[in-house]
Amino acid sequence: MARGLAIIFAIMIRDGRDIPTGTVLSTQVCVIGSGPAGITAAWELQKAGIRVILIEGSRDVGSNYQASWPDKFLLYNGEATGLFATNEPDFLVLPMSTHDPAWERERVYGGTSTHWGGQSRPEDPIDLEQRPGFPGWPVTRDDLDPYYALASKLCVLHGDYGLNGDNFRSDYWAGILQAQVPTLDGFDVEMYQYLGANYLNFAARTFQSEKGEMTIGESDADVILNASLLTIDHQQGSVSCLQVASMDTSVPPQPATQFTIKADAYVLACGAVANARQLLLSNAGNDYDQVGRYFMCHALSQGQVIQTQKSYLNDAQARLMQGHSPNGSWRDENGVAVSGRFIPSAETTRNLGIGRCWFWYIYGQYYFEVTPNPDSRITLSDSVDPVFQQPQTSIDWQLSPADEQTYDKTTALFKASVSSLGGVVSSYPWEFVKSQLIVNGHHIGTTRMSNDPALGVVDKNLKVHSLDNLYVAGSSVFPSAGISNPTFTIITLSIRLADHLKKALG
Ligand SMILES: Cc1cc2nc3c(=O)[nH]c(=O)nc-3n(C[C@H](O)[C@H](O)[C@H](O)COP(=O)(O)OP(=O)(O)OC[C@H]3O[C@@H](n4cnc5c(N)ncnc54)[C@H](O)[C@@H]3O)c2cc1C
Repeated sequence: MARGLAIIFAIMIRDGRDIPTGTVLSTQVCVIGSGPAGITAAWELQKAGIRVILIEGSRDVGSNYQASWPDKFLLYNGEATGLFATNEPDFLVLPMSTHDPAWERERVYGGTSTHWGGQSRPEDPIDLEQRPGFPGWPVTRDDLDPYYALASKLCVLHGDYGLNGDNFRSDYWAGILQAQVPTLDGFDVEMYQYLGANYLNFAARTFQSEKGEMTIGESDADVILNASLLTIDHQQGSVSCLQVASMDTSVPPQPATQFTIKADAYVLACGAVANARQLLLSNAGNDYDQVGRYFMCHALSQGQVIQTQKSYLNDAQARLMQGHSPNGSWRDENGVAVSGRFIPSAETTRNLGIGRCWFWYIYGQYYFEVTPNPDSRITLSDSVDPVFQQPQTSIDWQLSPADEQTYDKTTALFKASVSSLGGVVSSYPWEFVKSQLIVNGHHIGTTRMSNDPALGVVDKNLKVHSLDNLYVAGSSVFPSAGISNPTFTIITLSIRLADHLKKALG
């Protein structure tokens, strides 16, 4: 069971303010950032007996993550241009209040897992394939499957992943829900599992190990809150140490202590926007001007832009899409829920030359994979943050003409296929939809994985090409967005990274 954060903080977790200026901490691996990417890597490494320091920039706010918003406003702010200027001008600091229409990212212990939805599915093989406009991933689904199986267990999802994702198959769920898999021309029915409530917040949730059930703060990892990474010091192709600072208790906070962390390996896990900023601040990994490029997302229309009239599925088919059993909404004993989407099949995707997208059974928000665009990017702004006086983030969101093609072709296909089953679909024109798009919390790209150092920032083991001991975790390494929500794959890649580091560190 998840436990109250306040108790855990009192026992296990250090505050950077208590580490005097000039201190040098030494460890085997230092993980920076405590979202799902960082906590998963730290958990797996300490479980294998590796000494880990996990630093988190946020001050201790207990379980009230909203209390971190004033600090986030100071430290995550900057300028957002391109499509952001009209659609989401405050993107970098959303949410700032509980009334904000969009929520993007958190700077707090647990990261954005403090309020994510837990919707999970592995990337499909086509998501990782090279196709026009999409570079392909240097890893295949076969490479990832053993780690997806471990991630499925770590996330306490329903059923057994098997060798190839059995617990995500539509026929598997049709059996559990006593439902029926619908057939829609050109589309697959794909199932999404939702983590149970006790496992959502990665700082508060417990993990299983031989030593018992515990949070990351109760594990052997040395967790330090109020420890913001300032710079990654490197020379001759190696990181020598990290410069880290804490904040005092004044309002607004001011720098308190500054200390150094030396490790055999470093894992940067600050989320896709901050990962790029941290590398740019340290001039690290950017030999080919790739850091910060290809910022992507699963763009989502804020309103319902697809209207579906007349039911086109029978009751048993509709229940599968809604994740309902004959008795109504379904959850397992660990709180897992499920629902289905219509997604253009791999063959349709290749034939139409489109990005991936999904359609709900009736619900009409449009959600799609944007095309990688090098001009959609993060750079450093001329302004500095008011606490540590470091250059702030500048982020530009650009769509490509291919994104309009994805919308036009997929909505035309959905209309035709639904109409052949007796339903009626109408949709808004692209220009209107474009004016409605938000990033929707899935921040992807900016330090992408590639075998070629000229075309990406990290290699397939997530090591920065030009530095022998710096690794990046999180969806910043995804070469394309795919159609699955990113965090299940983030967790999978962090388990795989920990496995790699265990071998590399002996
Ligand atoms: C409203 C919403 C709903 C979502 N729902 C889903 C969903 O259903 N399914 C899904 O797959 N994904 C979902 N997501 C996305 C999901 O939250 C992210 O993919 C995930 O949190 C990313 O994990 P991460 O560890 O890479 O980054 P984060 O969770 O952003 O964590 C980054 C961490 O780094 C820390 N940090 C930053 N800078 C520094 C620094 N300088 N020094 C030290 N620490 C630093 C931050 O404080 C934070 O703790 C949702 C997101 C939002 C906003």
